[in-house]
Amino acid sequence: MDSVLKFGGSSVASATNMSRVLDIVEKQAAKGKVVLVSSAISGCTDALLRADEKSLADMEKRHRDIVTRLFTGAERQQVQQQVDTLFTELRRAPVPEQVTFGEILSTTILCAKLQAEGIPAVWLDSRKLVVKEDEAETFRRIRQAVRGTDAPIYVAPGFICQDKDGNISTLGRGGSDYSAALYAAAIGAGSLQIWTDVPGIMTANPKQVPAARTIPRMSYAAALDMASHGAKVLYAPTVAPAMAAGIDIEIRNTFAPEGKYTVIGAEADAARWIGVASEGGHIRLAGSRTAAPGTGCEAASKALTEAGIAALSIRAEGASLDVRVRESVLEQALRALHRAFFQELPIEEINLFIAGDGAVAGALLGMLRQTADTVKERTGKLLRVVGRANSRQWGIDLGGQPQLSQSGDYIAAILQSAPKGALFVDVTDSETLYKRYVELLEAGIGIVSSNRRSIAVPYPEYAAMQAAARENGVPFRYETTVGAALPMLESIARGTNSCNEILSIEAVVSCTLNQILGDYRPGGESFASLVRKAQASGLTEPDPRLDLSGRDALRKLLILAREAGVQLEEEDVEITPVVPLAGGSVEDFYQALEAQEEALSRAAREAELQGFRRRFVASLEKTADGYRAGIGIRNVPPVHPAYHLRGTENAIIVRSAFHPYPLVIQGPGEGAREAASSILNDLLR
Ligand code: ASP
Ligand code: MG
Repeated sequence: MDSVLKFGGSSVASATNMSRVLDIVEKQAAKGKVVLVSSAISGCTDALLRADEKSLADMEKRHRDIVTRLFTGAERQQVQQQVDTLFTELRRAPVPEQVTFGEILSTTILCAKLQAEGIPAVWLDSRKLVVKEDEAETFRRIRQAVRGTDAPIYVAPGFICQDKDGNISTLGRGGSDYSAALYAAAIGAGSLQIWTDVPGIMTANPKQVPAARTIPRMSYAAALDMASHGAKVLYAPTVAPAMAAGIDIEIRNTFAPEGKYTVIGAEADAARWIGVASEGGHIRLAGSRTAAPGTGCEAASKALTEAGIAALSIRAEGASLDVRVRESVLEQALRALHRAFFQELPIEEINLFIAGDGAVAGALLGMLRQTADTVKERTGKLLRVVGRANSRQWGIDLGGQPQLSQSGDYIAAILQSAPKGALFVDVTDSETLYKRYVELLEAGIGIVSSNRRSIAVPYPEYAAMQAAARENGVPFRYETTVGAALPMLESIARGTNSCNEILSIEAVVSCTLNQILGDYRPGGESFASLVRKAQASGLTEPDPRLDLSGRDALRKLLILAREAGVQLEEEDVEITPVVPLAGGSVEDFYQALEAQEEALSRAAREAELQGFRRRFVASLEKTADGYRAGIGIRNVPPVHPAYHLRGTENAIIVRSAFHPYPLVIQGPGEGAREAASSILNDLLR
């Protein structure tokens, strides 16, 4: 297979680079005839256009240096002489012709080196073969020149040609790529390789956008679109002759010959958006012509707005976009557009096995459905529900459509089928489910729980779960178990992890009691009646005694304390229930509660007279001999943060060694949606 290999100015800039080029060419020559087309050495064309004596002398020296390094003995002298002669001719040449000597110099040296290695390379004079604006004549002349000899390698200067009248001329700046395409089309080459100093055509100019990456394949149309709108890696006129002859163009990196590169061909573009280029304040977002010509305007405008850039205009042009911005923000805009259109975050799939079918489970499933796209965009994480269960049935479907259809051991089924990185989500209020946590954690399945019964277990069992999570490097999170969506546990852990010793925690975390104590006025509605109302609105446990006894607050206090590194057990906590609690049925309890009304209202009146409010507080306090924990009603003065709580609001007040003033977290502490959002945050952490 014959091929044409073109090398740009930086590829031939030094003796070392030229050796590299010849290695590549000689390897290719093993597969068929090669036409090597070269640019002038880097900076040479600019120097020749300036044409002042200093620039010419500099260039002369650089070429002489290359020859000195590349050749030895008689050959060195001979090539040196050729270079000297060319510089003499150059200085005498009419000004418009001087610029053509750069390519003659570089190719003369390359050809001589091949010959010195014993390869019968033939130099082709592009000034005689390439006729500007007459491709048919150019093809005829090149074919004839190549047919006349049987060399394995031809060396031809790029860029230079003659015009229709036979005057020496050029194909325009960057024109060597086009020269190579003409040679390739003329000889019917199997491949046209443009060797440059970047790994192919990239999604953006890597000097402007460091995250740019190589486009592996693109159509002629897309390449033309990018090249004619500022992508300097390819000279736009190159595309047409290659396309007409059906020759693939490869854009390759001389400095990493085995590395990534781009193939431009007839095949359709796989991607909707190909790359960005820029020229004179215009940004081109090249789109693929085979795809439906959607606009993408909205996405571009959003990307720029998010980067704080005001676009002057955004227009769709065919399948591409033309974006205009002020010159001063051009690079920023290129990066913003590149980020939005080409830097898709790698998506991490997280498979969820959910247990529970109460209000929180319902809210969580709804929230997962609604937020999936936004969450994916913001975090790169795709949360998929692959398992569901209530207390009787379960279903697992790794395809993401689990139906409740199986009975038996859900956890065993999860252990069987869970993909790597899966999470178990406990939104039940089961008292026993936690006994399976260690098994799950040891199988590499992380746990997110909103079930405080699972965490407020005897300390040794709690410690075993923590150890299993740590040893297996899987998450074990339960922020929802205290204060719903309020970041209470996280805040305490932050302090503890940074060795900021916790001096005290006051937690006002019983939504039920906050509501009832807040509404209770001596002489107003009876306490029992407020409890009944709270029960009717679903704010209490089915048996309100669980709330009034402080049992629920106790669980929360255990969890908070352990997060602060205190190994608190239930029996360490001194609980004073709101009222002495009668046994028997719930109705019996209400009867007994009515009988307490007088005592309750007296206590409330006394507090009111002193300007206090009554709050149900769970507290942990560091004393000379360890931590003391208690739960009960406290009268708090107006300076106390808990004084101002409204309705069911929760608060924790944390004093620590580092600061004279406490950390206070206050806000909504209940609600299925708050709980669901808190779980969602744990899932994403
Ligand atoms: N040497 C010429 C230029 O710098 C042609 C080329 O390199 O393609 O424009
Ligand atoms: Mg060039």
